[in-house]
Amino acid sequence: MTLLDLTPRATVSDRLATLPVVVIGAGPIGLAAAANLLTRGLEFIVLEAGDHAGASIRLWGHTRMFSPWRHLIDPASRRLLDAAGWTPPADEALAPTGRELVDQYLTPLARTDELGPRIRYGTRVVAVARAGMDRTRSAGRDRTPFLVRVTTADGRVEELAGRAVIDASGTYTTPNPLGSSGLDPIGTADVDGRVLHALPDVLGHDRARFAGKHTTVVGAGHSAANTLIALAELAKTEPSTRVSWLIRNASAARVSSSPDDELADRARLGSRVDRLVENGIVEKIDSFEIFRVQAHGDGIRLVGTRRGEPAAHDADLVVRATGFRPDLSMLREIRLQLDDVVEAPTRLAPLIDPNLHSCGTVPPHGFDELRHPEPGFFVVGMKSYGRAPTFLLATGYEQVRSVTAWIDGDMRSATRVQLTLPATGVCSTGLDGGSSCCS
Ligand SMILES: Cc1cc2nc3c(=O)[nH]c(=O)nc-3n(C[C@H](O)[C@H](O)[C@H](O)COP(=O)(O)OP(=O)(O)OC[C@H]3O[C@@H](n4cnc5c(N)ncnc54)[C@H](O)[C@@H]3O)c2cc1C
Repeated sequence: MTLLDLTPRATVSDRLATLPVVVIGAGPIGLAAAANLLTRGLEFIVLEAGDHAGASIRLWGHTRMFSPWRHLIDPASRRLLDAAGWTPPADEALAPTGRELVDQYLTPLARTDELGPRIRYGTRVVAVARAGMDRTRSAGRDRTPFLVRVTTADGRVEELAGRAVIDASGTYTTPNPLGSSGLDPIGTADVDGRVLHALPDVLGHDRARFAGKHTTVVGAGHSAANTLIALAELAKTEPSTRVSWLIRNASAARVSSSPDDELADRARLGSRVDRLVENGIVEKIDSFEIFRVQAHGDGIRLVGTRRGEPAAHDADLVVRATGFRPDLSMLREIRLQLDDVVEAPTRLAPLIDPNLHSCGTVPPHGFDELRHPEPGFFVVGMKSYGRAPTFLLATGYEQVRSVTAWIDGDMRSATRVQLTLPATGVCSTGLDGGSSCCS
């Protein structure tokens, strides 16, 4: 299988050049791609499933991020905002919550005169293909427009044509299953409503649901840590609240505090969980592999093995903080070249391997590492990392700067990738089903 031609001007036919670039997702990376396309004078459209920008981030909006503002704003987007008279965050050394990131940055960006008219909300991409060409047809493929099939909020199905596609749809809405096999455990349908998505708003919107209940958080990453801390806080005022933490490895090194972590807020999170376990406020159950789930009274029973022996664990509710994976189903007709472990582009995978890298030691990378055998198609942002939990926004901003330069035929700019990330001492502990190292 040949990789794509590195000289885009030569391959973009006149027909393709008349079409917009299609950007999937109005999260921070999709909007950054849009800002870069705008700067280059390339026509584009952004398709967003939610009814506002940053729809996935809003789902965990109550959670404080680890990076300070200065690492969270894309340079091209900032220029656009500045020209529109934007008021930047008062102190860029502070880390915002997800909600603040949306309200103070993404919403104003999505409402600029330049981006606003080019974003379609309530528009979910369900498939991407080459127009009139299934995956097996090769002749003239690189001169054929992309076809993007969408469903709209009112139930219509439409198809749009594009010269290139940038998939920035994230992974937040496709969590890893609870089962240690990577599959939904048998019995999942019977416990509907008792297994909750990562990062519920324990101290706010979802408080009544958790008060006085026994909740088990499954997962070894920072999403799990956030929820454990919130549940422990709730237990102070709702004393019958019980908190368990179930992990499949012998230890959860990714959550533990690290003195090397330049993202200090995140290191503090680890030490707070360590203390909750030491003080017996959080009951930690390690080495537990989940095979089956079943209803147990009004609650749920997790059935599996612990240190090789059959084991069961009962709770009222389970929070699934097991990390995320990319939704590749909509890309079935696109020729992808993915690493067989992390499901990231094959050239990118060794650079982000969580066995070797923390978020901050991922080298800067651009179109070259992100390319697939399908010319003009790129997965960027959180989704480009596949199952690896090491993504930082600053890395994604550099990705889309390079990718949009490539689409514009500006090879000089596309190949010149550069970035300085904060060093982090975590995330180098193996791919164990934990959540984003930054979450
Ligand atoms: C709790 C948490 C804290 C984090 N903290 C940090 C941090 O401090 N620093 C940092 O650098 N990174 C952090 N991250 C990691 C990462 O930066 C974020 O996950 C970020 O939101 C990724 O941006 P994105 O644009 O790639 O994807 P998303 O923000 O997930 O955006 C994807 C967008 O695509 C839309 N979409 C999804 N599917 C479709 C579809 N089929 N069709 C159309 N639209 C679709 C979604 O509605 C969404 O708006 C954190 C992540 C989490 C979960």
